[in-house]
Amino acid sequence: MFNGLAQPKSRGRLRLSGPNINDPILIDPNSLSEPEDMAAALAAVELCRELGNSEGFSPLVTGETAPGARDRSGMIDFIRRSAVTYWHQTSTAKMGRDSMSVVDNELKVYGIEGLRIADASIMPRITTGNTMAPCVVIGGRAADLIGISHGLGAQRELVVPFV
Ligand SMILES: Cc1cc2nc3c(=O)[nH]c(=O)nc-3n(C[C@H](O)[C@H](O)[C@H](O)COP(=O)(O)OP(=O)(O)OC[C@H]3O[C@@H](n4cnc5c(N)ncnc54)[C@H](O)[C@@H]3O)c2cc1C
Repeated sequence: MFNGLAQPKSRGRLRLSGPNINDPILIDPNSLSEPEDMAAALAAVELCRELGNSEGFSPLVTGETAPGARDRSGMIDFIRRSAVTYWHQTSTAKMGRDSMSVVDNELKVYGIEGLRIADASIMPRITTGNTMAPCVVIGGRAADLIGISHGLGAQRELVVPFV
């Protein structure tokens, strides 16, 4: 059983390591930094253990491999050592109006003329479900916005609920 935090509260950040385009980005995932995330992870692991060790699963399960019964600090240690991403990183150039926002509601980068961003980075927050479909919608919306700005009109009828 594999559980995941669908609405993590922890926030990581990307930083530039230098002024050149090929300078590597410094990635700080900062995962599980918010206590709420650890509380949710603890509850999720316990739920999986309960289900996996329940009568209903007994025909399918020969025994619990990990983490086994542990006290709270042991379980936190297990979670920190075994947690992985499920590859849904978003929101490093989020749409919005606050000081951390990078693009406006037309995907235009604040302060830079002629530049839009259309990918997972513009999501104001991570989506609860998988991220690929929203990226397709963002790309479609970008095509419409660019078409409209060049007098070509929207390519399709598309309503994007960015709230
Ligand atoms: C292993 C894995 C599994 C996943 N599984 C799922 C799943 O099952 N369902 C789901 O919904 N989501 C899944 N995701 C997440 C989903 O793939 C991403 O959220 C989504 O692809 C992000 O889209 P994007 O357009 O922001 O970035 P990307 O899809 O990463 O697109 C960025 C593009 O830019 C190109 N690029 C980068 N640098 C340059 C450059 N300098 N010049 C030109 N092009 C450049 C890259 O080659 C790439 O094609 C998965 C992700 C990973 C990594």
